[in-house]
Amino acid sequence: MSIGIWILGNQLSHENTALNSILTEKLSAKIIFIESLNFVQQRCYHQQKLIFIWSAMRHFAQQLQAENYNIDYKIGLDFLSILTAWIQENNITQLRLMLPCDRPFLKLIKAWNLPCQIKFYPNNNFLWQPEEFQQWAKSRKRLILEDFYRESRKKWHILLTENNQPIGGKWNLDKENRQPPKKNLSPPKTLFFPPDNITLEVKEKVEKLTINTYGKSDNFSWAVTRKDALKVLNNFINNCLENFGKYQDAMITNQEFMWHSLISPYLNIGLLQPLEVIKAVEKTYFDDNLPLNSVEGFIRQILGWREYMYGIYHYVEEDYFQGNYFNHQQPLPDFFWDSSKTKMNCLNQVLKQTENTGYAHHIQRLMILSNYGLIAGISPQALEDWFHSVYIDAYDWVMQTNVLGMGQFADGGILASKPYASSANYIHKMSDYCTNCQYNYKEKSTENACPFNYLYWDFLHRHEDKLKSQGRMNLVLKHLEKISPETWEKIKYLKQLNLNHKINT
Ligand SMILES: Cc1cc2nc3c(=O)[nH]c(=O)nc-3n(C[C@H](O)[C@H](O)[C@H](O)COP(=O)(O)OP(=O)(O)OC[C@H]3O[C@@H](n4cnc5c(N)ncnc54)[C@H](O)[C@@H]3O)c2cc1C
Ligand code: SF4
Repeated sequence: MSIGIWILGNQLSHENTALNSILTEKLSAKIIFIESLNFVQQRCYHQQKLIFIWSAMRHFAQQLQAENYNIDYKIGLDFLSILTAWIQENNITQLRLMLPCDRPFLKLIKAWNLPCQIKFYPNNNFLWQPEEFQQWAKSRKRLILEDFYRESRKKWHILLTENNQPIGGKWNLDKENRQPPKKNLSPPKTLFFPPDNITLEVKEKVEKLTINTYGKSDNFSWAVTRKDALKVLNNFINNCLENFGKYQDAMITNQEFMWHSLISPYLNIGLLQPLEVIKAVEKTYFDDNLPLNSVEGFIRQILGWREYMYGIYHYVEEDYFQGNYFNHQQPLPDFFWDSSKTKMNCLNQVLKQTENTGYAHHIQRLMILSNYGLIAGISPQALEDWFHSVYIDAYDWVMQTNVLGMGQFADGGILASKPYASSANYIHKMSDYCTNCQYNYKEKSTENACPFNYLYWDFLHRHEDKLKSQGRMNLVLKHLEKISPETWEKIKYLKQLNLNHKINT
């Protein structure tokens, strides 16, 4: 048998299970990497995403070559024709690859008529295999993150006593986290990496592309090797972890990264492995006495949320991506593609940083961008496509669950127990954005009112029946009765002007 291995751009790890299957035949098996131009034309990707993936692929291919693997690095138009020619040229009889994390891509590969047998290996960028998640989920009446997270803690024995009880007595210390930002807070310095020759070459290629792209490439400084990704992890552990929990949800003007780890791009392409990150963070609790609220809070993001989102994505029906519970049909406003077109300071800040870096932290994504989409009634699919295009860590598995499920409640509550909708109150409490905004965060029905306010009340009003059926919104829905008919008229009028981009955008 003549073996070929195809390493995908988000599977760049020595732990790659397909790669590991040839350890003994290292010299005889051939390995292919493919940079496909057709593939990246599916969306208007951020330039930094293209630089990141292609540069990381080239670095990993170079490293494997230095370790005596037999590497072919191909650059061309489409995967299928390059792969077919390579299989024929090398008389390959079995093509091996680690299972792609995204369902549409796996479906695409399975539909190809390749001139050899194809064998898939489990994807170990995640701790739970989809079948294991399905086993766990199928016996439950309702899927709840907290139950899954506890199961995960037990399965991997993380932050547990000898009797399998949570260290500190509680499974979840969220109540101690999520504080508003104090005045004059200054987050730690972030570690960035000046581009080396390989990255500069890719950057030049991307800048010369004639296809549609988004964002700026000038200040690309993401890590593109495992060695540097580990430095990012260590920098987080040494300088940010202690305050991670406390300021997890806080937002400050011109502070893009706060105390966040910035490791999602690396986890999602295999430069870091989830268990090594979890173990390294757990160790700081035992060895360095770091606060449990931060350590537990961070571990929950990876062992809980990340694994849960991946599990749900493979668990739900394939048409999940079409969900539109509130039947929202508004087109995506232009300012999502060009931050200079909005005067709403919170949106402007987050969109500007997204253009510059391809990054926004969780609360910026959820409570600013996605929240606006939800209360303004934007099509969930249009919003999902935008998120998928602009973020450096975006893939189908993490988009559908986070944007459609958590952010837009488009699945009617499979993932979230209530919609993440809020007025300016939340944004004002958790950030300093409102202080420098031309809109008034206290007003809901004047010309100067914050759009988040009138859009929020209008959202509750127009979906009152559906929201009542969800149960958890009843307290806030009671406020609708207190709003006078005149105020409703003004709210509806302002909302229409906002959606027609006549004011307040
Ligand atoms: C609307 C929306 C869109 C999102 N898009 C993406 C995306 O494209 N890619 C992506 O990886 N995450 C996405 N997330 C989840 C989360 O916002 C990012 O993982 C996080 O902001 C990445 O930054 P960080 O590494 O600094 O995270 P930290 O705040 O330091 O968190 C640590 C890690 O926890 C994991 N994590 C935490 N929450 C989630 C979650 N809900 N889903 C998956 N992983 C999680 C990530 O791996 C992250 O690196 C999205 C969330 C929302 C609400
Ligand atoms: S006032 Fe409204 S639009 Fe302005 S920053 Fe605050 S929430 Fe955003």
